[in-house]
Amino acid sequence: MVDLQQQYQQIKPEIDKGIQEVIDACAFINGPAVKSFQTDLETYLNVKHVIPCANGTDALQVSMMALGLQPGDEVITTSFTFIATAEVIALLQLTPVLVDVDPDTFNIDPDAIVRAITPKTRAIVPVHLFGQTAPMEEIMEIARRHNLFVIEDNCQAIGSDYIFNNKSQKKAGTIGHVGCTSFFPSKNLGCYGDGGAIFTNDDELANQLRVIVNHGMTVRYYHDLIGVNSRLDSIQAAVLKVKLKHLDEYAAKRRAAADYYDKAFAGNPHLKTPVRYSKSTHVFHQYTLVTKNIDRKALLDFMASREIPVMIYYPVPLHMQKAYLDPRYKEGDFPVTEALSQHVISLPMHTELDEEQLAYITSSLLEFINR
Ligand SMILES: *Cc1c(COP(=O)(O)O)cnc(C)c1O
Repeated sequence: MVDLQQQYQQIKPEIDKGIQEVIDACAFINGPAVKSFQTDLETYLNVKHVIPCANGTDALQVSMMALGLQPGDEVITTSFTFIATAEVIALLQLTPVLVDVDPDTFNIDPDAIVRAITPKTRAIVPVHLFGQTAPMEEIMEIARRHNLFVIEDNCQAIGSDYIFNNKSQKKAGTIGHVGCTSFFPSKNLGCYGDGGAIFTNDDELANQLRVIVNHGMTVRYYHDLIGVNSRLDSIQAAVLKVKLKHLDEYAAKRRAAADYYDKAFAGNPHLKTPVRYSKSTHVFHQYTLVTKNIDRKALLDFMASREIPVMIYYPVPLHMQKAYLDPRYKEGDFPVTEALSQHVISLPMHTELDEEQLAYITSSLLEFINR
């Protein structure tokens, strides 16, 4: 699905130098590399504060802690996402309230959010799924009207631009009260281990976030809050500093691969190509097709026989996951999510796909469909 080996070869001298500098300085935790990357990312995103942390899941959890969400508070999120989004809500004993998604963009449906609001609702967690920003202008308007926090799960869309009605733009993750990202190796901005970050323009919230990621410590060994230990280590920051410089070029390569796929599958009655949402640029964390009247299992087997990885993101909606079964929800409650989980496939998508690979992938898929 990704080719990190090839990508590394392209930037090896820069990466190796960055890592070696950290080792030479032996400043492994909160060293200058972390601060330097943090500043670069603030500039790139045009956001006041970036708070690095250990992973995207922690970023979400720490955000909810810093906003003071309390057990029993309801948090509205999408039924079609990676489990981490709902996991932290459950871990903090908040109540996840799931809503369905738009069948074209796969992102949370603002009308469904409005219907899910109750007096207990405190926050909305839109997920910018597969690389496109959710409809943030509508979501922020709903949040304003109902006095709710918005926590953007931006683990899949770093670098994506959201375009407002007045044509102004903001980077995904910098529009809500707080934004969260992951630097897991296969994400669009990935390090060589685990990593994550939180973004906010709110000075006071930034302060809370910094305290919570560091054991709730304000002055050394004085703990004003219950926190966690969630750090980005310096070696990962050194890798990210190099890769951030390439992020826009990486997005362009992903888009070029997506365009190739689009052309190959255009008009095919069995494949719905990803719809481009007019309010957001697409950074193609995933290239996800919706299949129609196809035996998906047979397709996966056929592609596997050609040694082409094809993945299903996500095969089971949140409300049907064993650990998250809840008497409030039953099969049929989220028809769009349920249909997508039955029909989507994601093709290899990364920065090193060449024409030969793309031709092989597309011709193999079309061969299966036309046989
Ligand atoms: C990857 C991901 C996360 C979690 O990130 P980790 O760094 O693996 O903890 C959360 N939400 C979404 C949508 C993701 O894709």
